[in-house]
Amino acid sequence: MKNMNIIESPSEMQSVCRVLRQKGNTIGFVPTMGFLHEGHLSLVRRAISDSDVVVVSIFVNPTQFGPDEDLNRYPKDFERDLSLLKSEGVDLVFHPKASDMYPKNYATFVYVERITDRLCGSKRPGHFRGVATVVSKLFNIVGPCRSYFGQKDYQQTVMVKKMVKDLHMDVEVVVCPTVREPDGLAISSRNSYLLPEERSAATVLIKALRAGEAAILGFNGKSEASSTTVTSVMRSVLDSEPMAEVEYVEAADPDTLDQLKEIQSSTSKSTTLLALAVRIGKTRLIDNLLVKI
Ligand code: AMP
Repeated sequence: MKNMNIIESPSEMQSVCRVLRQKGNTIGFVPTMGFLHEGHLSLVRRAISDSDVVVVSIFVNPTQFGPDEDLNRYPKDFERDLSLLKSEGVDLVFHPKASDMYPKNYATFVYVERITDRLCGSKRPGHFRGVATVVSKLFNIVGPCRSYFGQKDYQQTVMVKKMVKDLHMDVEVVVCPTVREPDGLAISSRNSYLLPEERSAATVLIKALRAGEAAILGFNGKSEASSTTVTSVMRSVLDSEPMAEVEYVEAADPDTLDQLKEIQSSTSKSTTLLALAVRIGKTRLIDNLLVKI
């Protein structure tokens, strides 16, 4: 097994990556908040197959958590994360301290307009500003050729692509498919919060999305394909689960994230984003599907 270096200091990480690039290596980068699972590892494997050197960051970014969110109880198992990454063949792990990423008097933030004010953005004020800021900082530290993100956090992928384009960042954003449990639940570090009955109830998210997908595909070519009909189908599946409290359920344009009126109106692109956020007990879960007509 090859050597894997763990670096905490942002400036050391920056100079190590600079030297690697000067030697002609391509760097693939996977930003994570740790407590790694198969979803994260799918990104790591893709990065390894595309790049000479793979860097994974493990950083629970405080600026993307609201005051009432789970920053302090976010699950952690750093030693396990390291052994998983080592067995995948990762070269470098970046594990900075919050006080080095956001020292006293830190003042600079990145904010992507419009795309971030809807879906999760409307429920988690400041969240995407925190994500855009930390991703920019990580890109500046690591200087990757490519960076890998999961479709599971769809709105995040759209925002990061927009930020990269608008700010002329020299990095390719690669979006990888959502990895699911055998029963369809999207794998997430937050699934570890779920009690056994909540874990079974959580399958309602993918059931609702699949019902929405079936509704769209069933409506194909017919005029009654209003997004309200599709979201009502999804909502009624969610409502059938007493433990599920719906935060949002939407059919949206996959590029702008604008809510769609007619599914038909998206057929010029032929793809509709179905997205939802649901609380099961105290745990907030999100999921989405892209439905191609
Ligand atoms: P997180 O540690 O939750 O911030 O996630 C780090 C990266 O892993 C993000 O790009 C996520 O979208 C991605 N990710 C999380 N869960 C999954 C999953 N089930 N399938 C694919 N990618 C995922």
